[in-house]
Amino acid sequence: MSTGTEQRSGAPGQAPEDRQSTARRMIIAVDGPSGSGKSSVCRAAATQLGAAYLDTGAMYRAATWYCLQQQVDLTDEDAVAVAVEELPLNISTDPQHQVITVGETDVTEAIREPRISEKVSEVATNRKARQLLISAQRRIIDAAGFIVAEGRDITTVVAPDAQVRVLLTASAEARLRRRGAQLGGGQSEESLKRQVLERDRRDSAASNFTEAADGVAVLDSSDLSFQEAVDSLIGRVETVQEEPA
Ligand code: C5P
Repeated sequence: MSTGTEQRSGAPGQAPEDRQSTARRMIIAVDGPSGSGKSSVCRAAATQLGAAYLDTGAMYRAATWYCLQQQVDLTDEDAVAVAVEELPLNISTDPQHQVITVGETDVTEAIREPRISEKVSEVATNRKARQLLISAQRRIIDAAGFIVAEGRDITTVVAPDAQVRVLLTASAEARLRRRGAQLGGGQSEESLKRQVLERDRRDSAASNFTEAADGVAVLDSSDLSFQEAVDSLIGRVETVQEEPA
């Protein structure tokens, strides 16, 4: 797989290379089920911290978009792995400017469509495809140095050595409500359940994101406002930043 990243732009008045040298290398790993709010919470936290941001779910979605576009049979494990291997993916790590392209095509919006949400688990549970995507994620995380990376297996598989490891959860009710609002409110309850609860059930075959692994802190956002969830994540980062190097 060829993966490129659009680098984040950095804080005004400070060149990215200055920020790299002054900021301590730190990985903030966040996992959680769909609709837990991890993407928006992590993007806001990364923006506030001046860190890069990686949405690993977007990589699985882009891989699924590409397989469908190439008319690859998703049940054919090897064919999916070949498609993922050749996937020409470019993903931005700027939390304020998320653009995902496959070849020349901007798929930023298209990968959020329900037709992708309903198929993505088939790619995510393909062992070979998963291994390729995990390697690409590790390369992006390593190159960034100071980054908030979110997904389903970041705290356990992709970056188990991350300095901050958080499982962001929320009740099923809160997650269905959030995903419905995200999709503009026009989704039937049935469709929402397929995209959130059914997808979680299928994804559980590939990774465990319902229970925190050893050393992973649980952040339940069911009764938190958006800003409270962001503040709580930042608080954990600041606690680690204050520890002696
Ligand atoms: O986070 P999001 O809902 O966009 O993720 C889309 C899909 O990508 C998930 O349903 C899951 O199948 C897959 N995924 C994964 N491992 C990750 C991130 C996402 O399997 N680290």
